[in-house]
Amino acid sequence: MIRLYTPGTGFPDLEAKIAYGLAAIGLEVTDEVEIEEYGGRFIVRIGTDNTKAINKAFEMFVRRMLTSTHMFFIPGVQAKYRDVYTTADRHGKLKERLLNYDLLSLYDNRGNIPVNFRSDKLCHHEEIPPLGKSDARKTGGLLLAASTHAGKPYKKDSVVTNFNTTLCEVCGYIAIIGLAKFAFQNIVGEKAYRNIVTIAIPSEKLDSSAIKFIMSAQRIVSKKWLTGDISLRTTPFALMAKFPSICYSLKDVNTTLHVSAFSPDGRGGFRLDEFTSQSDIPFKKFIRTHPENVATVDKLLGRQPAVSAIDALYECLQSNDWSYASLFARLYSKETSKGNYVNLLYPKTANYLLKEVCMIPEEIIKDEAINALASTLRHFVLERNYGYVDSIRNARYESKDFEETIAKLLREAQIRSDPEHKKYVPIPSDEQIRHIFSIASESEEKFNQVKTALSILAFTWHRSEKVNKEEVS
Ligand SMILES: [Zn+2]
Repeated sequence: MIRLYTPGTGFPDLEAKIAYGLAAIGLEVTDEVEIEEYGGRFIVRIGTDNTKAINKAFEMFVRRMLTSTHMFFIPGVQAKYRDVYTTADRHGKLKERLLNYDLLSLYDNRGNIPVNFRSDKLCHHEEIPPLGKSDARKTGGLLLAASTHAGKPYKKDSVVTNFNTTLCEVCGYIAIIGLAKFAFQNIVGEKAYRNIVTIAIPSEKLDSSAIKFIMSAQRIVSKKWLTGDISLRTTPFALMAKFPSICYSLKDVNTTLHVSAFSPDGRGGFRLDEFTSQSDIPFKKFIRTHPENVATVDKLLGRQPAVSAIDALYECLQSNDWSYASLFARLYSKETSKGNYVNLLYPKTANYLLKEVCMIPEEIIKDEAINALASTLRHFVLERNYGYVDSIRNARYESKDFEETIAKLLREAQIRSDPEHKKYVPIPSDEQIRHIFSIASESEEKFNQVKTALSILAFTWHRSEKVNKEEVS
C-alpha cells in the first residue's frame, strides 16, 4: 500500500484539493483509495505498491490536462495571462520534468515545518518550479483556484508587501485536478450570476465508495443553476435539496463544507467575493430525515427565494436555538404564501423542528390542550392575523404577556364563533387553558417549551384543516 501525505500548507481547502487530486490519480491505478484527516493534513492510501504506475498516472493526467490553456480558465488566472501559462508542448521543458517527479518522495510523511511566507513555497517543494512560471512569465504562485486563502497578506487596509505566496507546480496541478474532479461548481443568482464552489473537506475518513460517489455526483451536479440570490452560508441547502442523494450517500461521512463565491471581474476572469466554511451535518440530517423537509427547502428556493426564512432555518439547524425555529415557522408561512392562499409547514417538518432542533419533550408536542390552543391560533394565522402568535412567541417568562395574550385571543375567538351561521372557531376548554398555564408556570424551561410548541404548531397544517381543504376541492 502506498501512503501519500498532503504537504501541510495550513490552508484547509488547498490540503483537501491536493488530497482529492492524489485520490483521483490513485483511482487511475486501483479501486482501493481512501483519504483520512491527519492533523490538518490528509493521508491518501492507495491499494498498490506500484510506485511507477502512480507516477505514470500523474504524468498522463497532467499531459492530458495541459494539451491547451483551456484548463487555466479558473479563478486566480487573469485573462491576459492565460495564454502564457505552461502547456505540455511549449514554454519550458514540462514534459521532461513530469517524467522525473516522484510522488512518493514529494508526499512523504515529513513533520510540520514552519514556513517563511516570503521566501519559501507553502508546500516546501523548493526544488520544483512554482506553478504558472514559464519563459513568458517569470513569476508564479498560489492560485485562488487552489485556495481561497491565496493572495497578498494585508495589514488593515494597506498592502504591506506585494509578493505572492507560492506553490510548486506539482501541488498546483494536483490541486487543480482535485478542484476539477471533486468540487461542486454551481451557479446562483437571478440577474448577476455568481459561481459557487463547494468542496467537502473530510473531517475523518473517506473510503473509496464515498470518494467515487463524490466524483460521480460532482459530474452530474456541477454547472447547474441552483436558485436566485441567497446568502453564501445557506447555499448548501440549495445544493442538497436539488440533489438529496448527496445526503443519503454521504450520511456516515462528516465533512466541513468550504463554500466560495466568484463573480466575473469584467476582464474575462473571476473575482473572489467571499468564502465560508461550516459543518455539513445539520444540512444533511435535515434533508434526509423526511421527504417533506426537502419539499420545505425547495419551496424557499426559486427565482425569488425566501431569503429571511432560509437564514432562520440555517440559524436554527446550526445552533439548535428554539427562538430561530419559531421565527422560521413564521417567516416560512409569510414568504411562501401567495395572494389569498396561506401556506403552512408540513406536520413532519414541524415535528422535526420541535423534537430534533428544540428538543421539546413528546408529552408537550402531543399535549391535547396545547394542540387545541394552537388550532385557535392557526385560525387567525389563516386569516393573516399574526398579532396573537407573535405576542406569544415574544412573551417573557413571569411577565403576564403570555396569559394576557391568550385571554384576549379566547375573547375574540368567542365573539367570532357564531354557531347560528355555522362559523366555528376552535376554542379550548377552560380546563385545557388552566392545564397550559400550569405547565408554563412550572419553570422558565417549560414556559419556553410551551410557547415554542404553540408558535410552531400555529403555523403547521393540521389534520382538520387538511380535511376541510379536501372537502372544498
Ligand atoms: Zn509542492
